[in-house]
Amino acid sequence: MTDTALVAVVVAALGGLLAGAAFSASRRRAGERARPGFRSSPHYTEGLHCLATGQLETAIHELGKVLRDHKDALEVQQVLSHLYREVGQVERAIEIHRALLARSDLTRAERAHTLASLGTDFRKAGFLDRAAATYAEALAVDPRNLHALVGQQKLHEEQRHWREAYEAQTRLARLRKSDDGLVLAFLQVEMGREAERSGRTRDAEEAFRTALSLDRRVFPAHLALAESWMVRDPRRAASILETAIAASPERAYLAFEPLQEAYAAAGEPSRFVALCERLVGQDPRDWRARLALARHLRAEGQAGDSLGLLLRALEANPHVLLVHLEVWRTLRALRALSPEEQRYVATIEESALYFDPHICTVCRYRADDMLWRCPHCHEWNTFVEERVGPAAGRA
Ligand SMILES: [Zn+2]
Repeated sequence: MTDTALVAVVVAALGGLLAGAAFSASRRRAGERARPGFRSSPHYTEGLHCLATGQLETAIHELGKVLRDHKDALEVQQVLSHLYREVGQVERAIEIHRALLARSDLTRAERAHTLASLGTDFRKAGFLDRAAATYAEALAVDPRNLHALVGQQKLHEEQRHWREAYEAQTRLARLRKSDDGLVLAFLQVEMGREAERSGRTRDAEEAFRTALSLDRRVFPAHLALAESWMVRDPRRAASILETAIAASPERAYLAFEPLQEAYAAAGEPSRFVALCERLVGQDPRDWRARLALARHLRAEGQAGDSLGLLLRALEANPHVLLVHLEVWRTLRALRALSPEEQRYVATIEESALYFDPHICTVCRYRADDMLWRCPHCHEWNTFVEERVGPAAGRA
C-alpha cells in the first residue's frame, strides 16, 4: 500500500470512529446509554495506536478483541468493518454491517450510515446493482446522508452514467454548500462527449458551453468545441483554442496540434510561430512551446533553426526525453545518420519509457499522457506534468 493510500485508510477509519462517537453522543443525549465500557479496554487503546501508525492488520486484531468483551460496541464495529473492507476482506465487512442492521436499537442516522457503508462494501466488491439498491435504501431512511450520496455519485461515475453522476453531484454541492463547479464541469464534458458519440451535435455543444460557464479552466471543453468548429470555421476554432490557452496557460501544449491545424486551414500558418514565440517569451523554461516550434520549423525545411531551439530547450530541461529524441530527428533531417546512429534513434523511439510523464497530485499515479480523471483515485483534474530535476551528477 502506498503512503497516500495508507493515510486515506487511516483518515477514513478515523472518520468512521468519529461517526460512531457521534452516534454514542446522540444516544447519551437521549439518555439511552452511559459511557461505553469498551473505551477502558486496553485493546481499544492499542487498536487506536495501531490505526494511527498504519498497522492495519494489528488494529483489526486488537479491535476484534474489544468486540469479544463488548459485543454491541457500535463504533468499534463501524471501524472494524471499514478496516476489513480496506484490507480487501469485503465479505467480513458485509457480515458486520448485516449483523448491525439486524439490531432493533439503531437510531435512524445509525441505520442510514450502516446501510451506506454496506452499499460501499458492495460497490468495492463489484456488486454494482446491490450497491445501488443499498444506497437508495440508506437515502430512503435519511435523504441527507452524505456517505450514501457520495457513494451513489461515485457509483454513477464508475458506470459512466454521467447525467446521473451530475445530478448526484449537484445535490451534494447543495447539501454541503460546497463549490463543486470544477467536477460538475468535467461531468458536463463527459455528457457532451456521449451526446457527440450518439450524433446529437447540438446537445454536445450545449454541454461543452455549460461546462465552460461552470469553470473556464476545463480544458477538454475548449478542445471539444474547437474540434466541432474546425471544418466549418477554422478561424473560430483557433479563437476558441486561444481563449483556452489564456484561461490555463500551463495546459497550452494540449492545444498545439489543433491550433496548428486551425491556423493552416485558415491560411495563416505563421500565427503558430508567433504564438509559440510569445509562450517562450512568457516562460523561458517552456520546453513544450520550443519543441512545437522546432517541429513546425523542421517541417518547413528550417532544420538548422529547429536544432538551435531544441538545444536551448535542453539547457533549461536536460531531463526531457522528448526533446532529446527531437534533436536526433532534426540531426537526421540535417545529415545522413550512420547505421549505428540510426539503430540508436530507432531504439529510443521504440522504448516503452515514460516519454512525457504526468502524475496525479492526489495519489501519485503516473501516466504517459494527460488524463482528466485519475483511473486510480477517481479524482478530476489532478494530473500535472511530472517535473524531474537534472541528473544528480550535474548538481
Ligand atoms: Zn489519483
